[in-house]
Amino acid sequence: MIGALLAVIVIGFVLYQLYYYRKKSRLKKGLTFLPIWRDILVERVQFYNKLDTAQRARFESDLLRFLNETTITGVKCKVDDVDKVLVGASAVIPLFGFDNWGYPNLDEVLLYGNRFSSDHDIGSNHNTLGMVGTGYMNGTMILSKPDLKSGFLGKKDARNVGIHEFTHLVDKFDGAVDGIPEHLLEHPYSIQWIELIRKKMIEIQEDNSDINPYALTGPEEFLAVASEYFFEDAPRMAKKHPELHQAMSNMFKHYPSEKSTSQA
Ligand SMILES: [Zn+2]
Repeated sequence: MIGALLAVIVIGFVLYQLYYYRKKSRLKKGLTFLPIWRDILVERVQFYNKLDTAQRARFESDLLRFLNETTITGVKCKVDDVDKVLVGASAVIPLFGFDNWGYPNLDEVLLYGNRFSSDHDIGSNHNTLGMVGTGYMNGTMILSKPDLKSGFLGKKDARNVGIHEFTHLVDKFDGAVDGIPEHLLEHPYSIQWIELIRKKMIEIQEDNSDINPYALTGPEEFLAVASEYFFEDAPRMAKKHPELHQAMSNMFKHYPSEKSTSQA
């Protein structure tokens, strides 16, 4: 009897600690939006520059909320305001079409000073730009700082590792990183989406596509790669891949305005 009571107390204590830790990690840091962050957005984030005044205000408040809820840590490198804003922008962009979003599956972003190997070791021979942690690294994302920055140089090359990795997190909301973000797709559309992925992958295999061939790695990479393309250069995707553009607009509830379309 006493043993059972002790067990209940111990389990209760452990659960309380877990709850407290979780709650603590979600506590807001009390940051306020800094004017320099707006300068960085204007200078580096094309997605932000295409928004109207009201949308920009929402983008800024989403960015602030994300930075208040997420720890960004430099591993053998410093984290400056540019890094924070670019990580935040990478998080805001894929979910900008939705109200009251968040990344419940993310606690911390680790910034590495260079590319790394998939076992997180930093070195010149390593070539991983970013990754979403699994297992003991669950809740953690790793990004190469130089690649995060080069994704926002406005090159319109459909390469943006920040957007790529955050799209994996969106995909993971339903528990599986499989290229089918079920909460964004109603059932009949998910079947169409799988069919469309198959079709677009064949085009890449036949060398008849400007989509990054890394998409052939699997449906999950197709989604992440196509998202880089869509959020960096939606007008080009609308022109070259109208069906994919339509599907992604519906999925992310993001419909670039006529004004931004004419900037193609
Ligand atoms: Zn990926």
